[in-house]
Amino acid sequence: MDRKERYQLLFDKISQYNSGEKGITRVAYTNEEQACTQAFMRMCKAEGLDIRMDQCGNVIARREGRIKGLPPVLMGSHLDTVYQGGKYDGTVGVTAALEVVKRLNEKGIETDHPIEVISFACEESSRFGVSTLGSKAMAGSFDKEKVRYLKDRNGVTLEEALSLCAFEIDSVHQASREDENIKAFFELHIEQGPVLENENKKIGIVTGIAAPVRFSIKIAGTPSHSGTTPMNMRKDALLGASEIALELEKVALSEQSCGTVATVGVLDIQAGAMNVVPGEVEIKVDIRGTSVDSRQRVLDHLKRTIELVERTRNLEIISQEIISEEPVLLSAEIIETMETICKEQDIPYKMMPSGAGHDAMNMVKLCPTGLIFVPSVDGLSHHPEEHTDLDDLLIGIDVLEQIVIHYSKMDSKIKENV
Ligand SMILES: [Zn+2]
Repeated sequence: MDRKERYQLLFDKISQYNSGEKGITRVAYTNEEQACTQAFMRMCKAEGLDIRMDQCGNVIARREGRIKGLPPVLMGSHLDTVYQGGKYDGTVGVTAALEVVKRLNEKGIETDHPIEVISFACEESSRFGVSTLGSKAMAGSFDKEKVRYLKDRNGVTLEEALSLCAFEIDSVHQASREDENIKAFFELHIEQGPVLENENKKIGIVTGIAAPVRFSIKIAGTPSHSGTTPMNMRKDALLGASEIALELEKVALSEQSCGTVATVGVLDIQAGAMNVVPGEVEIKVDIRGTSVDSRQRVLDHLKRTIELVERTRNLEIISQEIISEEPVLLSAEIIETMETICKEQDIPYKMMPSGAGHDAMNMVKLCPTGLIFVPSVDGLSHHPEEHTDLDDLLIGIDVLEQIVIHYSKMDSKIKENV
């Protein structure tokens, strides 16, 4: 069996754990997801790895290094999915990490530093509305009181769901590795967007992970009869909301070179009816970018637009921030090393920001971190038809293997003193 078949087989085994009819449903802390995790642990064991599961359900599978006491090099991603998601999101990074170990074993390569394969628990926010819980726990930023009573669609709280899997929410903090020395973390992930495919690149070297600022904007006008209210005497809340949405598009387009994006994804017309001028509208706005300055320019423009719309359309607008997170920049040294690897292997690559959050953004707190993207066909993700060609996955695994081998060699400076 060649490497290609071997990897396909491993990948297909993981995809069998699915409770949905459409696409893959393997939601965090459910039977399918736990069974999948157990199966993955057995596969790691078969490769001679020492396996453990931490207090949050993260799998840590370790291959010892040649030299005692050196900090480990970590690689991985997540096995949980959204409801009716695809086969690739997360699974690629976990299976790729195990494939790298298989290659090292096959070639008899002994690394100086230990290597760990990580499968993070509960990366997707689908079940409880919060994402990357496993990597947050590992990075020591799991806030149990914030999440304890979050409920899934069946009314089960996170605390209960953890307990059903034999985890205790009050012990999750013990999963923290803050006091540990970790050499580096690498995550291979599908792009979940159309850029690599459109530009015919095989690898995305991620420079930073965008973080969202989100607002709820309530626009109040006056509901009135659509037949009897003259056009110049209306206080139409929907038209105010529309103007805000269009201005957001305009300013985000002007920030395109910085990669900032802005979206109005929710628009609610209170008691909307065909014969009523809309009196009350709520929109929800999501603005993301890796450049704090660029994001701020969009925010400033949004503020000015709101004031203008309020004045010119005679509306009352209340805007409330829902969330504001800091963008994360990834290790410049790792980015440079990945670039060298791609150049040496003649792999077409692109430096790019990530518009979506990943476990890597929490791992930045623990160690230098790198994130590698492979193309997503048609940019589809969180969708049953999510797809990446096997050949493209193998290129991603090659880059992951190279970077892990590079970082698991002891620095020559330190070596002289051993
Ligand atoms: Zn993912």
